[in-house]
Amino acid sequence: MSVPSQNSEEEQEVVSLPSLRNKHSNPVVLLVDDQPIIAEGVRRLLGDHDDIEFHYCQDPKQAIDMAQRVRPTVILQDMVMPDMDGIMLVKFFCGHPQTRNIPIIVLSSNEDSHDKSRAFSSGAIDYLVKLPDQIELVARIRAHSRGYLSLLERDEAYRELRKLKHDLERSNAQLKHLSSIDGLTGVANRRYFDERLAEETQRGLRERTSLAVVLLDIDYFKPYNDNYGHQMGDTCLREVAQALSHSLRRPSDFIARYGGEEFVAILPATNMEGARIVAETLCSAIDVLELTHEHSKMSDHITVSVGYAALVPLSMEDGTLLVSASDQGLYDAKRAGKNRVMEGKI
Ligand code: GH3
Ligand code: MG
Ligand code: MG
Repeated sequence: MSVPSQNSEEEQEVVSLPSLRNKHSNPVVLLVDDQPIIAEGVRRLLGDHDDIEFHYCQDPKQAIDMAQRVRPTVILQDMVMPDMDGIMLVKFFCGHPQTRNIPIIVLSSNEDSHDKSRAFSSGAIDYLVKLPDQIELVARIRAHSRGYLSLLERDEAYRELRKLKHDLERSNAQLKHLSSIDGLTGVANRRYFDERLAEETQRGLRERTSLAVVLLDIDYFKPYNDNYGHQMGDTCLREVAQALSHSLRRPSDFIARYGGEEFVAILPATNMEGARIVAETLCSAIDVLELTHEHSKMSDHITVSVGYAALVPLSMEDGTLLVSASDQGLYDAKRAGKNRVMEGKI
């Protein structure tokens, strides 16, 4: 006999609805009794009811295995058997993950109230003195069977619901991720930048820490596109985006495509001096890539101009102020000859 294992969610009775409808919508009875004569008696009592499937197990040690195989909707079980105590078998059925919810009708040879009480407290759902009246036996088999099948259907519905919920949550997370990403470069997009800027401004306000923004623009990118074509332009944007995102060190630092050939970084807990260092790092990260650009008036490869600004936010508008100050710094960097970093005045 298989000894019941610990219950776990995965081990629960898993009978899918289609199999329920095809195979188990009718009562399936498993009789466990050491006396074949009782089996014959029960078989005869059920004989007129073609929809009731009947199985017989003479050896109680095989009962759990057989129950797993035939999947009864009701178990009829003898109480007194030579090889095993009936109460113990009821407890095994009730403790086994594959059989624990199957209703057990105990078949006893007497009406002893002590036996009844032991049978019910060990997990039996019903108690009949054998051989019972045919009408009563059939009615009880049908009633308990229906109850069990409803239970399985309900469990199946819950499982489906849980799976749907899980799938929905995953799809939503994927959708949220996709809606935050710039399709061309793979870094965050402008929409997500706006969201993060608001969050970080809020955090700066709350924690009274300095927040910095760095704005970058590729130099002479129009002549790059005009001479090398739009596809090469796209490739260049991807390489610049990757180099920028790999150059940020802190997990809280964040880079996004601001639009066209402009990128923007948010640096939480960073003051003006820290922002200048990161701006220089980003500027030289692109310089050392040495992406050929024969039509730049600045260099023989791709360069960027950078503006930056930092402040301790005092209101939510300070996020926008940081961006416009960085833009001013970027404008000054362009005017001063490009491929350089300039502080934006606040
Ligand atoms: P400056 O040095 O002053 O920044 O000049 P610039 O030529 O870089 O700037 P301008 O604003 O005149 O041109 C930007 C170019 O960026 C024009 C546009 O074709 C190109 N661009 C913007 N978005 C994309 C894109 O998604 N893919 C490609 N290939 N090019 C883009
Ligand atoms: Mg531009
Ligand atoms: Mg440009």
